Amino acid sequence: MIKEIYVAGEWRVGKGNMIESIFPADHRIVNAQLSTASLDDVEDAIQKAEQSWREPSWRSSLPFQRAKILYKVADLIEARADELSRLQTRDNGKPLAETKGLVLSAAATARYVAAACESMDEELTSQRANDVLTMSIHEPVGVVAAITPWNSPIASEVQKLAPALAAGNAVILKPAEATSLIALELAKIFEEAGLPKGLLSVLVGKGSVVGEAIVKHPLVKKISFTGGTNTGRHLAHIAAEKLITTSLELGGKSPTIILPDADIELACKGIAYGIFSSAGQACIAGSRLFIHRSIYKQCLERLIDITQNLTIGHPEQAGTHVGPLISQAHLASVDRYVQLAIQEGGKVEIGGQILSDGDFSNGSFYTPTIITGLSNQAQTCQEEIFGPVLVVLPYDNEQDLLVQANDSCYGLAAGIWTENYRKAWQLAKALEVGTVWINTYKKFSISAPFGGYKESGIGREKGRQGLLAYTQQKSIYIGLNEQPNNWSDPFNRV
Ligand code: ADP
Repeated sequence: MIKEIYVAGEWRVGKGNMIESIFPADHRIVNAQLSTASLDDVEDAIQKAEQSWREPSWRSSLPFQRAKILYKVADLIEARADELSRLQTRDNGKPLAETKGLVLSAAATARYVAAACESMDEELTSQRANDVLTMSIHEPVGVVAAITPWNSPIASEVQKLAPALAAGNAVILKPAEATSLIALELAKIFEEAGLPKGLLSVLVGKGSVVGEAIVKHPLVKKISFTGGTNTGRHLAHIAAEKLITTSLELGGKSPTIILPDADIELACKGIAYGIFSSAGQACIAGSRLFIHRSIYKQCLERLIDITQNLTIGHPEQAGTHVGPLISQAHLASVDRYVQLAIQEGGKVEIGGQILSDGDFSNGSFYTPTIITGLSNQAQTCQEEIFGPVLVVLPYDNEQDLLVQANDSCYGLAAGIWTENYRKAWQLAKALEVGTVWINTYKKFSISAPFGGYKESGIGREKGRQGLLAYTQQKSIYIGLNEQPNNWSDPFNRV
């Protein structure tokens, strides 16, 4: 059966080329044939989005009324959590336990944004004259383009749709080609929750065709993007030309650090989770590990031991730690990086293999890999691999550590493992990244703003400010003077 796209409240077969959704654990299984949007579909969706957000009933809707839709969305996502996590696993191959976590976090996001939206106060700004009151209010920007990647679609999509709609906008969602099924299900959920027709479209299709047409459209007034740094930079150019704002959540090569006094068991288990969960396909993966030389050997041995005992397997099987990579092309790219690391003088301590026997024969499985012996300047220490590959480097003193940890074009996240919280605080302040985890890793809270320093992005999602990112500010002056301004009176000139 051919999957339809969702154009401003109407389900239709898109007029673009057909694409397939394929199960990464067994590339023989096609989950669905997907129709994609044509340029006419894009135009139609955007024109209707523009009419819909300007519709007086939506323009005058109050925050608590829009919040009601999002509370309903949260309930519907939760009620369908098992089904949605299975769908997500089918699309991107992440183990079920992980996709279930993502689905529940999407529900929590919708609920948090609803609460933030209905309880957000506007500001009466400080008074500077007795005859004038000033206030600042937030208004929608109009039509928002939400462009999402394949690694955690349900979470990143709700993270964009919920605040954009709560703020009173309309949204055109362009999911990644490989993982469009969840986005189409989300459209059904928002529809069932009572979102007025026209405010949401889900346009499946290629980024360079459908995505590009959406972001370049003159009526699109904000780009909210999660994906690779090169694409983000390209979208920032388009946004600059149009003078519109962007939220860009991009790549990372996040350092994690084990200080000499760390609880080694806690650190090694946390680090293995930080890099090997999701098979390393996470922008925040802790992919560069620095260990103090005094405990280097001990930590490395423990990490290898933990890695050896991870279960690589079918993502639908309980107990699987590491599932397949998204595609054969991505598998080849990850392996190329490991071969490059060897050429650069690296030693593969464990892993470094494509699995192709038995149950693994048709999937894109890569063994969790630990590489030592590289300098931080090596290409494999500088570039984002987006796979289960950890590079490990010893360090001798903190000054040298900081120079190396910050020597990256990225600045998304970092991890610190130590019992000394004074030291942890100093390091956390000195690291040039948007998120620091201390004695934990890859834990997320919807109330904490998320985004990158340097080439890891612009803007912040989540938190109460995450909602304001989809608004523009207006100042209103209210005159209190009962006497007329006599400036125009010819006899009263000063
Ligand atoms: P990844 O490496 O995670 O696939 P990409 O940046 O290539 O990251 O893709 C993330 C999202 O951006 C996907 O939905 C993709 O289709 C979309 N995309 C890619 N190129 C463009 C483009 N030129 N314009 C708009 N969207 C794009």
